[in-house]
Amino acid sequence: MTLDDLLRQAAAPPYALTFDHARHGHFGTFTHFRIEANRIFITASDGCADRQARAHPGDLVTSPATGRKVRSTLERLDFDSEESEKWRLSLGKFIGTIMFGKRNTAGQYDWLLANFPDHYTLWVRKTQHPPIYNREKKPRQDIYLHGAPVSVTNSFRSPEEFARHAMWLMDGQPRDEEGHTRCVCKYCKRDGKHRLGDQKIVTGELSSLRKAILRGQPRRSESGGDKAEMGSRSDPVEREGK
Ligand SMILES: [Zn+2]
Repeated sequence: MTLDDLLRQAAAPPYALTFDHARHGHFGTFTHFRIEANRIFITASDGCADRQARAHPGDLVTSPATGRKVRSTLERLDFDSEESEKWRLSLGKFIGTIMFGKRNTAGQYDWLLANFPDHYTLWVRKTQHPPIYNREKKPRQDIYLHGAPVSVTNSFRSPEEFARHAMWLMDGQPRDEEGHTRCVCKYCKRDGKHRLGDQKIVTGELSSLRKAILRGQPRRSESGGDKAEMGSRSDPVEREGK
């Protein structure tokens, strides 16, 4: 996909925000989300109550890499934890730029995802490898966002993985005429009939989009282009039978 295609996707719907100087940020209320002082509240969700992870305090599992026994715990992260805030700041940055053409600016609140969609929760898995020569190693930490439908994924593993899916929820979960999702996250994006499943491509597109938008390239909304309300960050390419 060319940068022009990506920009076209990024720029379609002018979700017009108002700026309130006294309250240090942008505001706006839309069908599936609202913005309050650069905080993004997603009010739509495809999350499932029965897709929650279960905490466990210390299972012994065999490491696939080494074949040795490691101790693995899974804990739910508080919404206000440092890790959660890091994820949500990162998501805020992607969404602020790609959906609204905004960047973090002095004198304003940073763009921040203010909630996870309903039934989405953040978890940390800590894996403790046995000591080597009596030296304790720091546990490895992996963070997962649980709650997505089984048809999408078991978990999102980074803000970059979840960014596109979050934008798709904010756009109203658009689908093509055949009912296939137009989401272009790693887990939904398709190449013809097949899932693409390549985060490198998704992350590469996210970062070239952000850079291009921040460089101030003309956006379709500014050049009088069409004002489609939906599908902006989703794949505009029609599916073709192959
Ligand atoms: Zn998706």
